[in-house]
Amino acid sequence: MNLFLLGSKMRRLPAPLCTKWPRIKPIEWSLLVVCAATLLWARPACAATALSGEDTLVTLNRIRYHTYPTYTRVVLDLSGPVGHQVTQDDASSLIVELKGAILGEALRQDPLIAVAKKRLIAIRALTGERQVRVLLELSGAFSHHAFTLQSPDRLVLDVFDMALPKTGPSLSPSEVKPPPVPEVKSRPLRIVIDPGHGGKDPGAVGQEGLTEKTIALDVSFRLAKLLRQRPGWEVYLTRDHDVFISLKARRAFAKRHRADIFLSVHVNAHTEPTAQGIEMYLFGRATDKDALSTAARENATSQSETLNFQKQILTDMVQDFTRNQSLEFAHHLQRAFSKQITEKYATNSLGVKRAPFYVLAKTDMPAALSEIGFISNPKEARRLSDSTYRQEIAETLYQGVSQYRALLEDGG
Ligand SMILES: [Zn+2]
Repeated sequence: MNLFLLGSKMRRLPAPLCTKWPRIKPIEWSLLVVCAATLLWARPACAATALSGEDTLVTLNRIRYHTYPTYTRVVLDLSGPVGHQVTQDDASSLIVELKGAILGEALRQDPLIAVAKKRLIAIRALTGERQVRVLLELSGAFSHHAFTLQSPDRLVLDVFDMALPKTGPSLSPSEVKPPPVPEVKSRPLRIVIDPGHGGKDPGAVGQEGLTEKTIALDVSFRLAKLLRQRPGWEVYLTRDHDVFISLKARRAFAKRHRADIFLSVHVNAHTEPTAQGIEMYLFGRATDKDALSTAARENATSQSETLNFQKQILTDMVQDFTRNQSLEFAHHLQRAFSKQITEKYATNSLGVKRAPFYVLAKTDMPAALSEIGFISNPKEARRLSDSTYRQEIAETLYQGVSQYRALLEDGG
């Protein structure tokens, strides 16, 4: 007879359950996982001791989850800091052990959370002697990354598909690894804003001498001001006047300042004057020909040189642990533009793309490059030359950056 604790209630494990393996239903699968876990971790005599000395134990009050396009985040809300161990038990489950912890009342009453969403089937909380175990039942191959946050205390688990991002280039499953997530504790979040071009490099040039370098610097200043008006931000600009700075030096600047977020601000151009809209980029193999062309222009190289660079960096891309975070960051920015700018001004939301930008290469923090409009389009160029519109752009970038920060701080 196996006894195990499910919430606060001791139950007898029904014997036939363990013999139904070939024909299990989803809900039975949940119980089966518990059965397997119990065989490894049963604490038959702990009913009384589990509750003794509760005042010294940390309480697991709540379990939350959210499914994002590239990963699922599970957040354990705790009453204090707790030692933890995460084990990938087999192909379909993740086990989190919390030492010196007990379940809060709500989880004792209802320890099973049925999720049945992409990649996450169910979450179950089990209690043992001064320990809590949380089981995540998953579908498909996955990898995971766990980290803690404070004020309030949380343990965050990110679960990634061992599959290809649909919008991205071909990556083999072995290339898909969990990114480090910036730890947002009590210290301010450092953002490096990178106004594109400068000095001898004007960037794209529009009618009547309107230059990309001037627009990028003005929008960056406005964004920096908005961020500095709020507590909890440390803001750095790669340039604060009209000066040429190499792309490599900009990357090095972000690294030297140990940036949590890197945002490069640019204005787009196209040979077709009707091309219009806003798009966000992260580092990667070019999504399409236009993306390659944009990267080549921003890299100040020919398309074939940028293609060669793309070939060279394939190995580095395997090391690019931050790409999932960069993707989330870019999506937050693009969503902010969809809400506040593209509809209002009847321009295109061109989405989130990848391309081999020098300035984003080998960055070890979430990094994105924003193309905030086409200077080659007379209508968009007119708007970009208007300070009210540039303020709206800066406020939209601020919204995107803040929403991404909220995601980091909330842990889910
Ligand atoms: Zn540019």
